[in-house]
Parts: sequence; structure tokens; C-alpha cells
Amino acid sequence: VLRVESVRKSYGGSLVLRDIGLEVPPHSVTVLIGASGSGKSTLLRCANLLEDVDDGAIFLDGEEITDPRTDQDAVRRRIGVVFQAYNLFPHMTVLDNITLAPRRVHKEPRAAAEARGRELLDRLGLADRAGEYPDRLSGGQQQRVALVRAVATRPRLLLLDEITAALDPELVGEVLAVVRDLKEQGMTMVVATHEMAFAREVADQVCFLDGGVVLESGTPQEVFGAPRRPRTREFLRRIT
Ligand code: ATP
Ligand code: MG
Repeated sequence: VLRVESVRKSYGGSLVLRDIGLEVPPHSVTVLIGASGSGKSTLLRCANLLEDVDDGAIFLDGEEITDPRTDQDAVRRRIGVVFQAYNLFPHMTVLDNITLAPRRVHKEPRAAAEARGRELLDRLGLADRAGEYPDRLSGGQQQRVALVRAVATRPRLLLLDEITAALDPELVGEVLAVVRDLKEQGMTMVVATHEMAFAREVADQVCFLDGGVVLESGTPQEVFGAPRRPRTREFLRRIT
């Protein structure tokens, strides 16, 4: 679904992504781990075309999306994104948040968009919250709604950047349960996280970023169970 080839990106003089390569097969979950500043968020922003790459190429379903002639809005419509916080529009109800993109961007009729929105909320046990405004929900509920909103347009790919980082520990589990559910439904995802237990459980592929390169990647068993690189071992020892 997604292929990243030799991507470089610098801010000012500092090279943040040095030579990133990555392949995300359909219906798989790739988890990005690595120290703060290693480039995880930058990589996700490049994949969603929120940042231009300086060099290299990114492909979505075989089409080079870093080509200057690409219709960037069309690409973004095929990718769902959820960040750490502030994902919902505060002045809109939960249901309006979820149905906005399907109605405006994908031109779905209101009734169909709302029926599907309610169905998705029902699956999360949030059916009774459809008419609430986001500030009346807990942080965990808001992130669950944000996930629903991101998949309401049936994207090809979902990018999740530290979606539990701003939550109280007791709310983390309910949000990760939704990610687990999306994986079971076959959603292709790239997930940046510091939740190592979750990474180990949900990942098909783990990529350890260090200083702007994918230093090591493999199955969770390989990367967590038998890391090959000293830097990976050191990182895992420090955080667990
Ligand atoms: P964290 O785990 O803390 O989220 P990260 O792996 O997501 O870290 P990035 O946010 O991708 O790391 O940042 C990588 C480097 O790029 C950091 O050194 C950061 O300071 C720098 N950086 C990120 N965004 C910008 C920006 N808009 N302008 C300048 N420097 C930036
Ligand atoms: Mg980050």
C-alpha cells in the first residue's frame, strides 16, 4: 500500500530523515518506534504530504505521491490521520465530526453518512454520544471518535501518531482496543508509539528509527525478542 524509498528531509541545516526506506503491505500494521526526535512524526507527515521530502520518493498503491504533479488533496482523501490530541472540531457534534468528510469531500448523502456514522459509534459503545460536543467527552472517548472519523471515508491507509500520548493511563486501553479492532477489519496502518507492549502485540512489522534512518526492522519477535543492533538493544533496555 505504502512504499517509502530513500527519503531525506531536513529542517534548516539539520537532517531529520537521512535515508528512510519502508514498505507497508496491504492489511498490515507497521509500528514505528524510536527515541524522541528520531523522525517518526516527520515520516508520517511526509507520507501524508503535510511536508515535502527533499529527496527520495513515496508511493501509495504504486503511484508516486511525491511527484510534483500529484493531486495532493486526492492523495490525502485516501489517507486517514489521527494525531496525539485536538483531532476533533470543537464546534461540531460528534456525529457532525464523523460525517463531515464523507458528506463534503466524498459527496455522500447526509442520511447514508449519518447511518454509517451511527453504526461506527455503536460499535464503540458511543452511540448515545452522537449529539455531544467533543469537550463533553473524556480524552479516550475523543480519540475513539477521532479514529472513527478517520476511517469513515474508508481510507486505504491510516497513519496514527502517538494517539494515546496525551491520555491518562486508564484511558489508553480503550483507544488501543479500537486500533486492535481496525486491524482485525484489515485496515492498513502505520503507527508511531511509545507503548511497547501494544507495539509488540499489534505490529506485523516493527521499524526502529534512530537518527533519521530505519536502523532495524522485522517482526515484533525479531526486534523485541532478539534485536540485532546495539542501539536497538540500548533503546529497548532504557524504556522497558
Ligand atoms: P517524538 O517521539 O518526540 O514524537 P519523533 O520521532 O516524532 O519524536 P520528529 O517530531 O519527527 O521526532 O522530529 C525529528 C526532528 O526534527 C527533531 O529533532 C525535531 O526537533 C525536528 N523537527 C520536527 N519538526 C520540525 C519543524 N517543523 N521545524 C524544525 N525542526 C523540526
Ligand atoms: Mg513524534
